[in-house]
Amino acid sequence: MTRRDPIASDSIARCVAIDGPTAAGKSVVGRAVADRLRLGFFDTGLMYRACALAVLESAIDPLDAGAVTALVRGLDLDVRWEDPTQPRMFLRGEDVTARLRERAVEDAVSLVSRIPDVRDELVRRQRAVASREPVVMAGRDIGTRVLVEARTKIFLDASAEVRARRRLGEELDRGRQTTFERVLGQTRRRDELDDTGKRAVRREQAAPDAIVVDTDALGIDAVVDRCVEAYQSANAAA
Ligand code: C5P
Repeated sequence: MTRRDPIASDSIARCVAIDGPTAAGKSVVGRAVADRLRLGFFDTGLMYRACALAVLESAIDPLDAGAVTALVRGLDLDVRWEDPTQPRMFLRGEDVTARLRERAVEDAVSLVSRIPDVRDELVRRQRAVASREPVVMAGRDIGTRVLVEARTKIFLDASAEVRARRRLGEELDRGRQTTFERVLGQTRRRDELDDTGKRAVRREQAAPDAIVVDTDALGIDAVVDRCVEAYQSANAAA
């Protein structure tokens, strides 16, 4: 992608960038916004998780930044859609999406995503996806780094307690035994690990042109409406 490629630039400008802390509702909102706008949804957390899975399957120590980076740079990693709202991650040609919420991946992903060279490589790959056709992309640095040129940027925020309650519901739905206190502790720990200063996980770190949406009080439909309206007004003249 270069500035001389107008099709790629236009595609990135039309993307919707969604950032926010863990369990802020980025996936639920992103999926619904993608459905309404008839765009694909791309949850970039899946890409970081697939890298963590690849590290776990190798003999590499997740703390060895050089070795992890070399592995990630050479990874055969692909995102594909059968249903535009459900991105599937392929690692070496195999659909690993279902494995990306496993506890071991949860535990390793923050270590992998802290490595600056890993981030550079994944940002490059994420931009390549967005330059093919517009997508709704969710993550922690989408509006601030991956898709700086996107006209629609949303920062979703919610208190740690509200986010933990949502995550607890998901965990119980998956049949896992856990408690609210435990999930709240994990949510806070993830916030700390992700708060490296290079990512938008607190509202002060959102892109200056992002719309901050507090999801504590708003229902999902109202949040989705705000995002769709933002997209329509941002792209009306374009
Ligand atoms: O969003 P999700 O919880 O699936 O992301 C998993 C992890 O991947 C995050 O905790 C974070 O460490 C990392 N991540 C990131 N930048 C992104 C998306 C995810 O650092 N754009």
